Amino acid sequence: ESTRRKKPNWLRVKLPVGKEYAKVRRLVDQHKLHTICESGNCPNMGECWGAGTATFMILGNVCTRSCSFCAVATGRPPEYDEDEPRRVAEAIKLMGVKHAVLTSVNRDELKDRGAEIWYQTVVKTKEYSPETTIETLIPDVKSNWDALYRMISGGQEVVSHNMETVESLYRRVRPQAKYQRSLEQIKLTKEFGKRTKTGIMLGLGEKQDEIYKAMDDLVDHGCDILTLGQYLQPTKMHIEVAEFIHPDTFDHYREEGLKRGLKYVESGPLVRSSYHAERHVNV
Ligand code: SF4
Ligand code: SF4
Repeated sequence: ESTRRKKPNWLRVKLPVGKEYAKVRRLVDQHKLHTICESGNCPNMGECWGAGTATFMILGNVCTRSCSFCAVATGRPPEYDEDEPRRVAEAIKLMGVKHAVLTSVNRDELKDRGAEIWYQTVVKTKEYSPETTIETLIPDVKSNWDALYRMISGGQEVVSHNMETVESLYRRVRPQAKYQRSLEQIKLTKEFGKRTKTGIMLGLGEKQDEIYKAMDDLVDHGCDILTLGQYLQPTKMHIEVAEFIHPDTFDHYREEGLKRGLKYVESGPLVRSSYHAERHVNV
């Protein structure tokens, strides 16, 4: 086992404790909701839940895809639950969330890719909590642009779609996705009039010039906001960490991204696409 695979100390995080944390835990359980915080083994749960916020995952917790970095269960999902939009909206209201982040699994088997449930969830959340701003981290719609437009027309302030990695690693990391198709989805989202955002994980073996190329491609396709974080292997079954990137290098990438024309870059070892998301509403 090489020492570079050993977790460096900048990845140590606080344990989840406290009253707010317990309140989020209770509401998530009572409303039978799924969160990517838990499904993705996110290292920031102590901080985010402790601050009364979480990222809800809609359309169930079984995904039709099997990305090699992701801890969400893969398989054939059961029928989706039409009451989910209401439960999500109610939990967000009871939690008093000022900025809500919603995401979903991929539902490639559904003709509309889950767009209707997406739409209803955003609309219901706005109805229950008119002051709450929303970011929707949406899946790859596989060029079903009608589905895309439905998904992003509920009134959310930010629409994110994660590129996850550089082009050369797609086959290994996101086998059912295509780099160009995801860029196209971001471009159409921007043209639709939405604030756009994406996330890339580092430490999967990507080269520096490939990261810069991705930044340039994102700027060319109208992406406003980029998050960069360290990939962490959720279990031994998942793709291995190739490298732990130093915090100073993350800082350097933030500067580089801004220089290349991105409007906002959130970059650091523990950054996840929903980390500090409230800062991205007014970018
Ligand atoms: Fe959840 Fe995102 Fe916070 Fe992680 S960074 S705990 S996924 S809200
Ligand atoms: Fe995980 Fe999303 Fe890939 Fe599904 S599509 S396996 S939820 S990263």
